Amino acid sequence: MPVGIVRRDAATTEFFDGTARGELLIRSCACGAFAAPQARTCPACGCELTAWAAAAGTGTVETWSIVHNRKLPPVTVAIVRLDEGPWMQTQLVGDLPDDLRDLRVRVAFEQPQGGEAVPVFGAAG
Ligand SMILES: [Zn+2]
Repeated sequence: MPVGIVRRDAATTEFFDGTARGELLIRSCACGAFAAPQARTCPACGCELTAWAAAAGTGTVETWSIVHNRKLPPVTVAIVRLDEGPWMQTQLVGDLPDDLRDLRVRVAFEQPQGGEAVPVFGAAG
């Protein structure tokens, strides 16, 4: 199942430069907290976020749902809690167990033709 095509804008340039290198970038605050890539302010101290940090790319599934589409294979979308703390909405790919609760996952990148490399997650081997 291909992921959707995503194109960069000014706010996402650095993030997609990271995914093109195979790095999952998250927001990093001077107070030591991390935040999701799309966060604008620090969830811990409220500061404006300007710095990026490379996440380890590992995390745990918090919740998920399976999206059925009549013409396409079902897609598993999930909220993954990264080991650094931030939560990311993402797509799960590859062979997955029936019960995904607390599944350990690792980031991978899919790049549809004409779009940016997008982070997805698969079961950590
Ligand atoms: Zn902070």
